[in-house]
Amino acid sequence: MANSNQLSKIPVIASPLPTFIEELYTKYQGLKEGTVANYIPELAKVNPNLFSICIVTVNGEVYEVGNYQQLFTIQSISKVFAHGLALEDHGRDYFLTRVGVEPTGEAFNAIILDEQSKRPYNPMVNAGAIATTNLIKGVDATERLNRMLDMFRRYIGHDVFVDISVFTSERTTGHRNRAMAHLMLNFGMIDPNIEESLDLYFQQCAVMVNCHDLAVMAATLANKGINPITQEQAVDSRYVRDMLSVMYTCGMYNFAGEWAYKVGIPAKSGVSGGILAVVPNQMGIAVFSPLLDARGNSIRGVKVCEELSQRLGLHLFECDNPLGKGEWQRE
Ligand code: GLN
Repeated sequence: MANSNQLSKIPVIASPLPTFIEELYTKYQGLKEGTVANYIPELAKVNPNLFSICIVTVNGEVYEVGNYQQLFTIQSISKVFAHGLALEDHGRDYFLTRVGVEPTGEAFNAIILDEQSKRPYNPMVNAGAIATTNLIKGVDATERLNRMLDMFRRYIGHDVFVDISVFTSERTTGHRNRAMAHLMLNFGMIDPNIEESLDLYFQQCAVMVNCHDLAVMAATLANKGINPITQEQAVDSRYVRDMLSVMYTCGMYNFAGEWAYKVGIPAKSGVSGGILAVVPNQMGIAVFSPLLDARGNSIRGVKVCEELSQRLGLHLFECDNPLGKGEWQRE
């Protein structure tokens, strides 16, 4: 069913969600603004017209439209999940000695560290994400990669694979990320095996997912770390709050403040065009559309999430929504 523009045939009783997402899909399908990412040469080859929206509720209901089976590399969205694994490996206190939780207001690839502590600012910008991946445990590169892939499997519910072309493309051209790793090594903020950690970081960014997978991952975070389809605990529930807080304040690059204000739910975007958003205790939302704005966020993705949040009353601090919180749910 790849490239299908049909809603999946899942029996639905009295939920407005299928109609909402179909309307949004039709409304924004014609929006062709933005450009696909090209700083990783392999990413420039993507079809810019791809577009899909998927919602998975904490009860395991699935609503999806567009190219929701189209695979793409997860890119920066992986940072959320690597953060969870590093917290499980080291605990909150130690993690905070190596990576902060402060938004930067800068581009995701800015080469900056906190002046005083020398920590990278947060796990959602590249420097912090590389330092986070550096913390993933394993006796060697293979075990670290396998632990990472197994972590993704728990969230998604099936095995995942690394796109070797995208991985190689980024590995050979990722000089800026390599420079950040050296800077952090200079300050003793990461362990000396930086090539191994950079490889693992480039591999985690090149994990292949589709829009449906992203929505299941988001729904898992909405559901206390339990995958709502398989019922597997993907991450220790103690750390879900850490992951969501950092997503909320830092997940949308230097658009994070405006996103928090307008959309009001934790989210993370990636340069391949995905956006994953979490409505705690309700649902996971994913949008895929590779046309990006200047900050690296999917243009259709941002628009769809803004409108979904408004129409369904999803903003976490909404007090007075005409729809009423949760009225989208089935009787
Ligand atoms: N792999 C990309 C990088 O490190 C991820 C960036 C992104 O999605 N914002 O540059």
